[in-house]
Amino acid sequence: MGDPVTGNGPTRPQLERQIDRLEKRYEECDLCAHECDVDRTSGELGLCREDDTASVGSHGPHFGEEPPLSGTAGSGTVFLGSCNLGCVFCQNWQLSQHARGTTDRTPREIADIALDLEAQGCHNVNFVSPTHVAPSLARAVLLAREEGLSVPVVWNCGGFENETAIRDLDGLVDIYMPDVKWADDEAARNYSKASGYWDAARSSLREMHRQVGDLRTDADGLATQGLLVRHLVMPGFVENAKQIVDFLVDEISPDTYCNVVTFSALKGGACRWAPVLTTKRW
Ligand code: SF4
Repeated sequence: MGDPVTGNGPTRPQLERQIDRLEKRYEECDLCAHECDVDRTSGELGLCREDDTASVGSHGPHFGEEPPLSGTAGSGTVFLGSCNLGCVFCQNWQLSQHARGTTDRTPREIADIALDLEAQGCHNVNFVSPTHVAPSLARAVLLAREEGLSVPVVWNCGGFENETAIRDLDGLVDIYMPDVKWADDEAARNYSKASGYWDAARSSLREMHRQVGDLRTDADGLATQGLLVRHLVMPGFVENAKQIVDFLVDEISPDTYCNVVTFSALKGGACRWAPVLTTKRW
């Protein structure tokens, strides 16, 4: 039996317990696969360099996402400060690595941002780089849902999740959108500062798909629920891309929605690092 706030998913008390467990993780942080084991509630910092308060860089309609997310009125992006990865090709590095121009936000304030994005007509609320502040965002989503938020919530993450933390987002996230970067662990260490990336990505992809299934769209072609995978093909890493796609087809679902982007299509910060990647591999 479902709940008036959550539909057929977990009940309100179940969601409260999930969020409590997520918040507890701030004390010995293992919210992502780095498992830094630091107490962020007392100001200790792990590799993401963020305490237990979420910071937001910007928010508003965004038209550059995949068509099922951007639609005609835009995806309601909320760009979080900092990140649990350190990709040398990051397009948002000023925000992800230096949290420049960000403001600390409570879950209450983030819920208000989400409600405002829906009021502006956005088709969804799209949290960008959310994993390291998952407890704060989970609390915000529950608050917003109770106050009428009805558009899908998108988890726009880097693929380096802790599967056990993802489990506690069940019922709070409608669309998982991991940017799956590496099947090559050496490359993940060198270019994204992440050890054990591929194991972490595979286990969290399985859990994401278990929760939300393949991507589904409504009559207007807008995403309502499911898994949407991104992959950026790096120069010299075509085999890496093939391995990721093979895994999706063979072990997740042959109907997985996967947006494959080529490195040359990127602009800005990523281009600074093109020589690094190309020199090392070619
Ligand atoms: S979110 Fe990840 S990177 Fe940040 S402190 Fe926790 S385990 Fe470390």
